[in-house]
Amino acid sequence: METNQAKKIWSQACEFLSSVLTADVYSRWIGVIEAIGDDREDHLTLTVPNGFYQDWLEEHYLPMIRKALGASGLENVAISFAVDGEREIEPPEETPPPRAKETTEKRKVVKTYNVGGGLNPRHTFENFVVGPSNTFAHAAALAVVEAPGRAYNPLFIHGGNGLGKTHLIQAMGQAVLKRGKGTVCYISCEAFTNEFIQALQQREVVAFRRKYRNIDLLLIDDIHFLAGKESTQEEFFHTFNTLYENQKQIVLTSDRPLSEIANLQKRLVTRFEWGLITEMEMADYETRVAILRRKREQLRLQLADEALVFIGQHVKSNIRKLEGALLRAASYASLIKKPLTTEALEYLLRDTIEQENQNALTIEGIQRMVAEYYDIRLGDMTSKQRPQNIAFPRQVAMYLCRELTEQSLPAIGNAFGRNHATVLHAHRSVGAKMKTDAGLRQTILSLQQRLGGAVAPS
Ligand code: ADP
Ligand code: MG
Repeated sequence: METNQAKKIWSQACEFLSSVLTADVYSRWIGVIEAIGDDREDHLTLTVPNGFYQDWLEEHYLPMIRKALGASGLENVAISFAVDGEREIEPPEETPPPRAKETTEKRKVVKTYNVGGGLNPRHTFENFVVGPSNTFAHAAALAVVEAPGRAYNPLFIHGGNGLGKTHLIQAMGQAVLKRGKGTVCYISCEAFTNEFIQALQQREVVAFRRKYRNIDLLLIDDIHFLAGKESTQEEFFHTFNTLYENQKQIVLTSDRPLSEIANLQKRLVTRFEWGLITEMEMADYETRVAILRRKREQLRLQLADEALVFIGQHVKSNIRKLEGALLRAASYASLIKKPLTTEALEYLLRDTIEQENQNALTIEGIQRMVAEYYDIRLGDMTSKQRPQNIAFPRQVAMYLCRELTEQSLPAIGNAFGRNHATVLHAHRSVGAKMKTDAGLRQTILSLQQRLGGAVAPS
């Protein structure tokens, strides 16, 4: 079709598109398109500034553009994109390698920065040891970094305390920054909540929204903290929607499966399920030793392999504790300037080792492990309080005591400050929930493994 007709048709289509897309998406993706004349009949040629736009538009917006033409009764018009090499426009997501003839002033770079700081430079992919316990989460994280907003959105990573969730999502942030793929924000859910409350009090909600709705990669750590926080959930719901609609990447971590976050609005749960859910478990022995080796290298610690093996064998529940033990051993070794004997190690790490042993199959060991897993206090296991975030872990602990120990119902009840009927009820209700909730089954399994208990077939 000829130029004038093409321009007229395209401006009608634009009217339609601007009414269905957000202003940001419209100006970013549609506003840059120009219609030009073409000598083929019933054919509309649209030009874009570079190949990146072409790929992106063809992949994501072609159906919508067809619909827009259809709205003006032009569903039979063929559409093709062409790159208009004359145009100079800042590419939206990726910075193509600068061409040699370009001067530095002319080259425009995508804004790349770290909103709010908070990334620990040591939490990188290079420093993250991959093993069977985290292969899947690691692969998902890499896929997201390769194609933010496209691979899995949102990415939801859950797992107990000290298993590497924070490390992994910070590594994602660092990788995206390094590749210059846009703005990154890492924030704990608690800090997000506090910032929001402060914005409410100081009437700065508009600025708060502007900040969080203009981010290419939003990493929110410990999202379980949203439990019961109604107004923050409301705000986060809108943040999520805006980012999602604009194909921005969202990554969330949680210390428990989605289904176990109490008082989380259904619509948030649904959205968190849209992308990919992946779990991290405690590292097995080989991975633990590999992590210790990596740390030794990274921190240039003087410690013999035997010491690493000893620590790897004894600290089995939590990678943070594994590192703590390593540092303790290394600082002692550097003081005495001699290789550590096994006796010396046993003595140095006696508290940690004792705690690990207490995680064994006793009622208290189970209570301790479950409390640690859910990041609540051991005292919550016996307290009379019953908010959902502690009542549920308590039921899980009762369930495991009944499954894994030989103790009687009254003895278990007693240890929780309750009667045998409560234990029976907890056992039944967790058992029933496991039948329908794969996340919970997985949690129970991984708790059993950490307790060293036999894995019950279900
Ligand atoms: P979480 O957020 O799950 O509680 P963190 O990410 O804070 O756990 O991890 C605890 C510590 O263990 C951190 O210092 C982290 O660097 C380290 N760590 C965890 N997993 C790995 C791993 N796979 N490789 C190397 N270090 C790890
Ligand atoms: Mg963490």
